[in-house]
Amino acid sequence: MGFGHYSIEPRDMNTSTPTQPPERRDRLIRERVHDTYKLPGKLREPTCCPQCGACFYRGRWTWTHAPEGKVFEQVCSACQRTNDQYPAGEVTFRGEFAMRHREEILNLARNLEATEKSEHPMNRIMGIRDLGDEIQLTTTDVHLPRRIGKAVYRAFEGNLDVHFDEAGYFTTIVWERDE
Ligand SMILES: [Zn+2]
Repeated sequence: MGFGHYSIEPRDMNTSTPTQPPERRDRLIRERVHDTYKLPGKLREPTCCPQCGACFYRGRWTWTHAPEGKVFEQVCSACQRTNDQYPAGEVTFRGEFAMRHREEILNLARNLEATEKSEHPMNRIMGIRDLGDEIQLTTTDVHLPRRIGKAVYRAFEGNLDVHFDEAGYFTTIVWERDE
């Protein structure tokens, strides 16, 4: 299997390497076979998640309460991924500038998540880990990382690398700025 890649900074084209660790590739292959988190196709309506309250209704997840009557219960894919610590995407912020401006960058990411999540309940930040010289942010979906990466790039420039697997099951973003 291959990994798609593009870079917004042309000078990065020859120096970038995929950031997927080998074990993640194995997980991707497993997920491609089992596809355990793609539940909506099998859900009866309305189904509500007892953990976060999101409801699957009329073909999509929403925060609006389902109508009166029988409601099915199932933990949603975003909560399930969070419970399993099994992200669908990852954003890494690196570089001295990034570390000096970590709060601004994370606020931007959180604000973007709040907007995104209000429309798309399955798109969420799963966790944020500050490793001192870089920050790793994980998400429950494959779209949020790219949106966060592009917003940070628009606000602070720097270098943005986007990696995604061909099947579309995992997105990895690396944003870097030193000065
Ligand atoms: Zn949920």
